[in-house]
This record gives sequence, structure tokens and C-alpha cells, in this order.
Amino acid sequence: MDWSHVIGQERPVEALRRAVAGGRVAHAYLFHGPHGTGKRAAGLAFAQALQCEGPGDGDGRPCGACRACQKMQRGVHPDVHVLFPHPKGTSEEDRAERKELLSQDPYAEISYARRPSLSDPSDTSNKQAFYSVDRVHEELLRPMSLKPLEGRYKVALLTEAEQMHPKAANAFLKLLEEPPPQTAFLLTTAHADRLLPTITSRCQRLRFAPLGAEALAGALVRREDLDDERAQMLARMADGSYTRALELTTNGELLEHRRLVLDFFRQAYTQDATRLAEGVEEIRRLGRERAKGLLDLMLRWVRDLLLVRTLGPEEAPLVNVDQAEAAERFCENLPQADLEAMVRLIEEARRLAGRNVNLGLLLTALAQALGRAMRGRSARLYVPLPEAGLSRAA
Ligand SMILES: [Zn+2]
Repeated sequence: MDWSHVIGQERPVEALRRAVAGGRVAHAYLFHGPHGTGKRAAGLAFAQALQCEGPGDGDGRPCGACRACQKMQRGVHPDVHVLFPHPKGTSEEDRAERKELLSQDPYAEISYARRPSLSDPSDTSNKQAFYSVDRVHEELLRPMSLKPLEGRYKVALLTEAEQMHPKAANAFLKLLEEPPPQTAFLLTTAHADRLLPTITSRCQRLRFAPLGAEALAGALVRREDLDDERAQMLARMADGSYTRALELTTNGELLEHRRLVLDFFRQAYTQDATRLAEGVEEIRRLGRERAKGLLDLMLRWVRDLLLVRTLGPEEAPLVNVDQAEAAERFCENLPQADLEAMVRLIEEARRLAGRNVNLGLLLTALAQALGRAMRGRSARLYVPLPEAGLSRAA
């Protein structure tokens, strides 16, 4: 995982390379900037450059061939500790799988907050991931207080560092105040303002800016073997994040379904009969199982809206994190919308979709009722039931 694996980010990379080349390595670094911009990739490259036992080219570049470099590439260097926050009760297996993914690709989505389940990208169980004080003692303080086992440094890479419980942060601060020799703490965060100022003030700060669409597209072509046109399109949708670009590459269907959901709400609100009929037809053609999945997505979306409305956009732990702005806009523009009623309507539709109800009729009725609820009017789902003998198989 050397510097060539870091996409863009010339300035922080240059600063880190010079630190290695000049032997002026700070005890702690804070890599801050939006999600998916290469903070972990730079951290791993930096760790490898620090551990490399090769002759060195005077330019802070790891050799890629020595024992240390090889261990880094396999993610098994005993003096490099990679930590990420996780919810209570996650299995060791699952955490190992995430580490493995990370060593294969430092841009992989391994965050529990954004990807609660590795096998099911649509799972959004909204678990809170954090560093507990016990973990900080066991996995950070203890190993980092010992001498390096075989490397030149002891390195700890703490991703999503803002997710430390206050007690954990204070324990970590003690170590940071008197760091053992030859240690480097690399903290990454997309929310530098949520870290203790007493921690950030002890770190050298490096900013990771959102990646440009050209850099993203180039990397998608080079690394993922995408054709140019598709790479350009995904790069524009990725909001400066290579991790998001990767997600778009692999979970295209999920994202396509999210688009359908948002379109459906828009059509429900405007009640443009022609476009609504097209939207309904588009969903109906996906088949009953996928339509049920779409209704689940609709529910998650409205629950996000409820969170934004009650907690505010800053505090709301959203499922559709990447849709935070759209959720905020919705709440601003439609303060009268009866979100609780919308939840009930979608739940009712979801239940009916599991039965033999005509999907087209059901979705049309749902759109009409949602349109009323969005205007703050009372709304019920009028849909012909199979018992009445009116439904046809969709
Ligand atoms: Zn090496």
C-alpha cells in the first residue's frame, strides 16, 4: 500500500513523504476531510514508508520488497495497528473480514455506520459504532506502550477517531501527552470538530480535500477497469469520494432503486398523472419482490425525514447519509407534511404488497395518499383488496 495507491491528495502526501525522508516524524497526525477522500490510504502508505527496511530512495518512498513492506501489503505487520469503531456485540469474524477488505483496498467501505452488514448492502440497521474505553486500553494503550516488536515504529491508525467515548478519549489523551518513543498515531476523521481540542492540538493536521471528478474517473478506469463513459458518470455522482464511487460501481441496483423512490415521492407530491403512471409502471416491472424492497426503502427514507425534523440535520443519525441534504430540503420545503401518516401509509402498502394485490393499483393508490399526507391533509389508502375479488395478479 505505497503512495501510488493514494488517489490525488498531492499536498498531504508530499508533506508525509518529506517527513519520512527527513526523519522528522510527528507523534500524532490528524487526517481530516470528507469521507472517502483517501485518509486511510495515506495512513497505510505512511505506515509502510515508516516501517520499510529497504535502502530508501531519499524521497520517503517504501521499497515494496522488504519483509516489512510485504507484511504491510498483507495487512499483518505486528507493529501497525489499524482500529475502527464498532458497535457492541459485533463478531470477531466480521471485524476480521473488514480488516481484510481494508488491506485489499484502503478505499473499501468498512464503516459499521455506513455499512452495518458486509453481505447485504441494503441493510441499514443504524448501529452506533464507537471506541469504548476498554478497547482503547486493550487495543491501543497497551500495545502502543510497548517497544516495537520488529518494526522501526509503532503505528496506530485510528479511523473515524471522533467516535471515541469521552472516557476513551481521555485515556488516549494521557498517552498522547507523553508518547513513548518511536510511536506514530494517525487519526482520521470527517468531523474534526467532534474531537477533543486537547487531542487535536497535539496532532499535526493534514487536510484531505474532496477529490475532483477527473481524478475519480481516472482512478475508476485504472483501478476498477471501468470504461471511460461509465467512470465519468459515476465520478460525477460520487461527491468527491472514491469510496462512494466504489459503492456506486458495485451497488448500482440499490442506488438505482433509491432514485426510483425519490422520483416516486416527487411524483406523489406533484400528482402529475402521466409521470406518476410512468413511475408506477417502472416499479411494477421490477416485480413484486423488488417492489417490496422499494417500499422498505421508502419507509427508511420517511424515517430519516422524521429524524431530521425532530433532531435537526446535524444530529440525525440518518440511514441515507448521502441523502442528508435532500432530506433537509424536503423538511424545509414541506413543513406541513404529515410524516407519521406517511409511515403508516407505506407500512400498510408494504403489508398489502405481500398479498395478492395488484401492484400497479396499490402503488397508484399509495402515491395519491402520500400526496395528500405531504400536503398535511388526512389520507387513507384506498386499494381494491383481493377479498373483494377486484385484484389481478400484477
Ligand atoms: Zn520496504
